[in-house]
Amino acid sequence: MSKKVQDLLLAWCEAKTKTCEGIIVNWYGGEPLLPSAYPVVERLSERLQAMCASRGVKYEATLITNGFFLDREKMLRLKELGVVKVQVTLDGPPDMHDKRRHLIGGRGTFWRIMENLKATVDLAEFQLRINVDARNAMRALEVLDILKEQGLHDRVRPYIAQVTHDGAACGNIQELCYSSSDFAKMEVEIYREAAKRNLGLSRYPFRLAGAFCIADRTNGFVVAPNGLLFKCWHEVTMNPEKSVGSLLDAQQGFQASNENKWLAWDPLAKSGCRSCEVMPLCHGGCPLEAMKHPERDRGACEQFKFHLEPLLEIRHQHATPDSGSTPARDVVCK
Ligand code: SF4
Repeated sequence: MSKKVQDLLLAWCEAKTKTCEGIIVNWYGGEPLLPSAYPVVERLSERLQAMCASRGVKYEATLITNGFFLDREKMLRLKELGVVKVQVTLDGPPDMHDKRRHLIGGRGTFWRIMENLKATVDLAEFQLRINVDARNAMRALEVLDILKEQGLHDRVRPYIAQVTHDGAACGNIQELCYSSSDFAKMEVEIYREAAKRNLGLSRYPFRLAGAFCIADRTNGFVVAPNGLLFKCWHEVTMNPEKSVGSLLDAQQGFQASNENKWLAWDPLAKSGCRSCEVMPLCHGGCPLEAMKHPERDRGACEQFKFHLEPLLEIRHQHATPDSGSTPARDVVCK
């Protein structure tokens, strides 16, 4: 992000602080801790913190990172910069993770991430996302075993996440991705097994604050490096087609209509959602997915539609005092 765009972003945020109670920033990428990106995170954080302090509004930040550059020194600084929650992603146990997430030369990253977690876990609330598709689902349990061996099982919050196909950029993985209902079945198996082995993994519905994610919140925006504004993380590109505005120009007609589409999304307009026992835990699910199927009488059903009962049963049988938290949604959804 150029300095010009950064300054426009700060001015835009300053205007927003006049009518908002605070600013919550989620740093993600790409990888926000890459040496080329991190100075931007640092500069914007300092200025946003100062701006919010001078206006007497709240500032808070979360970070989604692959964890590779997250050493203690960096995390201490990020804490100063307002980062209170961190999400780190693994793609399974070491052999599998290292096959998918390696350095350019092929060197694996799993154990460095694990070491970084151990060095920083006391400095923020850590969520560990374990990506799951048809190739590695039950191997998520091996990650939990490793967390236990490393003394991290009760210090980070692991959860398993469904890998989804988001179009051409995701290549040819569609047949490897679970449908929501199949994922839900597999999830129950994993949670049951984890509970039996006393591995810290639980899933419990959490309260949604009136919206599913950034996209259907009036004041939620995703900012691209070139200053384009989007509502949905899945639509961000450097191309304006799906944008809802730009920091550099006044809103165009097509951007206003893109924005209106998001703001008009109302799961309660769907008869299936109005009568659904999972409402409001699901809140109509992912609006992007739901809007792809306007003919349906429901939104994009969340897995709770399929497995709430067995999950509650597992929790009831095995719950520990703090096993109820599930990570905030879209520190989660990537
Ligand atoms: S689970 Fe399905 S029907 Fe129920 S509220 Fe969510 S989208 Fe609507």
